[in-house]
Amino acid sequence: MTKTAKTIKIGPLTIGGNNPVLVQSMTNTHTCDIEATIAQIERLTAAGCELIRVAVPTPQDTAALPAIIKAVKIPLVADVHFHYKRALEAIEAGVVKIRLNPGNIQDRQQVNEVIAACKANGTAIRIGVNEGSIVESKDKALRQQELNRPLAELMVEKMGEYLDIFDSCGFDKLILSAKCHDARTTIDVNRLIAQRFELPIHLGVTHAGLPAAGGVRSAVALGVLLEEGIGNTIRVSLAGDPINELSVAWEILTSLGLRKSWKPEMIVCPTCGRCQVNLLDMAQQVEAALVGVRKPVTVAVMGCVVNGPGEAADADLAICGGHNKVAVYKGGELIATAGCEEGIAILLKEIEKL
Ligand code: SF4
Repeated sequence: MTKTAKTIKIGPLTIGGNNPVLVQSMTNTHTCDIEATIAQIERLTAAGCELIRVAVPTPQDTAALPAIIKAVKIPLVADVHFHYKRALEAIEAGVVKIRLNPGNIQDRQQVNEVIAACKANGTAIRIGVNEGSIVESKDKALRQQELNRPLAELMVEKMGEYLDIFDSCGFDKLILSAKCHDARTTIDVNRLIAQRFELPIHLGVTHAGLPAAGGVRSAVALGVLLEEGIGNTIRVSLAGDPINELSVAWEILTSLGLRKSWKPEMIVCPTCGRCQVNLLDMAQQVEAALVGVRKPVTVAVMGCVVNGPGEAADADLAICGGHNKVAVYKGGELIATAGCEEGIAILLKEIEKL
């Protein structure tokens, strides 16, 4: 249950209110490489992405948008920085939302033109405030004075200033985002935003890092906020293949019970001195076999009889290591005891039937 009162239509999606928290990601291809961008979006869609953002730094990128929009199944968001013309071109091309940091476009008239185009086309705007762009004063003393104040407060103040611009144009098809690279400030700033404004919130920890550290940082920040009812769409931003972002995002939402899982869940023991099988190899084979399965089944891969049969009882399928052999379970029932290779082959055959 979110605290947001307002709901916004983003193309075919509805965000805010009591609607499900949406999962989004961003491509890392050059958008003008149409083939590569479509291929990546298709992979991300299959992994559970519901809204996808693409960067449009050049006119070649915005020129590619119509072909991409036509080819893919999920709505497209254009990420605009600095040049308002890219925003106008993307809106014209048919994106459902643009991400705009008004602080990056100094000419107010240009911002007004973008707002007018969004109004005319029903395009939503995500207003971004990033910690990096927060203190703009050229006066050193003033800058220091500002920096002595909590960053979260400064970001919310800046968000208020941006919102005044949109308010004066009578535009409220807005989503708010305040991005920081640390979990603590992300929690603080989004709590303040949720208290002060009634618009949907996009949550994410920016530049979170490589998958292990970034996944934890994102899970901590987003987990706390979502549990408090704050946040209507999430992006877990991780360095590398964006496909990794989706599994973390879905894990966060399903762990909190905010979305139902649609894909298999694997339970794998960490192994210890009791394990006598190559558990990592077995788990990797199972993981590979589950790619493409779109059912919320549970598959357990366990190292020994200490916890194996217990997990197997609750899993749809399970394999449990013994002394150079394994036991395979289906629906909690033992269906085979075999050597490791034969046992894993039996389990993979069962996965094929899912
Ligand atoms: S299931 Fe067995 S091998 Fe795996 S961690 Fe537990 S005791 Fe160790």
